[in-house]
Amino acid sequence: METNHILSKTTFLRSVQCHKSLYLNRYKPELRDPPDPSQEAVFRTGKEVHVLARELFPGGVIASKEDSYDPKTWVQRTHALLKEGVEVLFEAAFEHDQVLVIVDILERVGGKRKAYEVKSSTSVKDPYDWDVAIQYHVLKETGIKLDDFSILHLNKEYVRHGSLDLGILFIGVSMLELAREMEPEVSSRIREAKAFLSASLVPEIDIGPYCDEPYACDFMGYCWCHVPEYSVFTVARMKKVHKFELYRAGQVDIQDIPEDFPLNETSRVHVEGHKYGRSIIDLGVIHDFVDSLKYPLYYLDFETFNPAIPPFDGTKPYSQIPFQYSLHRKTTPQGELTHTGYLAEAGVDPRIPLLESLLRDTPPPGDILAYNRPFEARILKDLTEAFPEFAPELEDRSSRLVDLMLPFQKRYCYLPEMHGSYSIKAVLPALVPELSYDALEISEGTQAMEAYYQLGVETNPTRIEEIRSDLWEYCKFDTLAMVRILEKLETL
Ligand code: SF4
Repeated sequence: METNHILSKTTFLRSVQCHKSLYLNRYKPELRDPPDPSQEAVFRTGKEVHVLARELFPGGVIASKEDSYDPKTWVQRTHALLKEGVEVLFEAAFEHDQVLVIVDILERVGGKRKAYEVKSSTSVKDPYDWDVAIQYHVLKETGIKLDDFSILHLNKEYVRHGSLDLGILFIGVSMLELAREMEPEVSSRIREAKAFLSASLVPEIDIGPYCDEPYACDFMGYCWCHVPEYSVFTVARMKKVHKFELYRAGQVDIQDIPEDFPLNETSRVHVEGHKYGRSIIDLGVIHDFVDSLKYPLYYLDFETFNPAIPPFDGTKPYSQIPFQYSLHRKTTPQGELTHTGYLAEAGVDPRIPLLESLLRDTPPPGDILAYNRPFEARILKDLTEAFPEFAPELEDRSSRLVDLMLPFQKRYCYLPEMHGSYSIKAVLPALVPELSYDALEISEGTQAMEAYYQLGVETNPTRIEEIRSDLWEYCKFDTLAMVRILEKLETL
């Protein structure tokens, strides 16, 4: 059995996005960007969802061993299992005309043959068309007649109560008609991809909107190295089409943007700030904001994780579940600063102990400052829905939330050093340069999420203590940053 494939589903999808990416991936893999640690969590989630979806098809047999790379054996085994009459196959491998595909689930039920592609998303997304179409094409060419081909994705409305109900958690969407319609184009795209792969030179393809659509390409470090740090691609709220319009006209640096280039207000503030060092300090509105704050003043920040598969009652796929908060408190603007917080044990439902602690720590009166209020409000709302017995107190906390991001989002305060952004990671170094996230082991929310996951699998007590300490310091730093930012606003 031949399996000298030169294209797989993954590399075919690369070629649909950009032929240069296909070529570099095959011949210059050393130019690939270092793996992004957050990708590991994405792969892990995908795997968990795949394994769970298999439970919908009892008695299935795995055709491709995932722990060793041996496509020839996978294809042989798939054919042998089909010949034996096995009705449900997982990871069924097929190869035709040097294109290898692995079908997540292939079943024969009631005399009908159906294929499924499992996705950890909560909807059908555009790139899935090609994903299914290439598989359909190869299966058809190898003589597998499909009666249906569906995407199985997560149902975002599903709320867990007790054991998981997989029949509701997963939604199947038939893609068969679309795959049939796309088949002629799939054939021509395969020919095109093979032609690019047989060329002796890297395809001359410049950067374009396809570099991060539908997926962020992993050769951006190589292809984008000529783009300066503060380029038109970083301009706040500028449409991608306009960014490439400027780029193609040779106006790559923000400094190069012509005076008469039409800009919306947000982009204009960013560009003029960068070009001419212009700041905006609307003292009247800033003073009103500062004067309106009611003491004792709390500074609150949640850390959350958002598992694809709802782990607890009352959660949905990708619910933001809080596992930690940090809380600074001041009784008066010049008063003493105190700190408290909560960090849950891993592996248990953290919500009740966390909310009980939060309610104890934030008695009325006083405003509760958050940086990006809608996020904190959303967490409190989800807690209220899951635990209505706490509704009056949680609604009180929610009603006292005030957004510290507002003066920056509304551009009442803008400094060129913010580089068009109003995130706390941009505002803090601009206003309080002596305070930096750089020294922290954990410096981003996604890292905090991953650290909390690691807490659940780590067995070394010393390492567990280190991770807990890193999480504590990171979340504490977030609220301390808010304290210092407000102090800066007060002094303006
Ligand atoms: S970075 Fe852009 S141009 Fe370069 S290989 Fe990727 S998609 Fe193609």
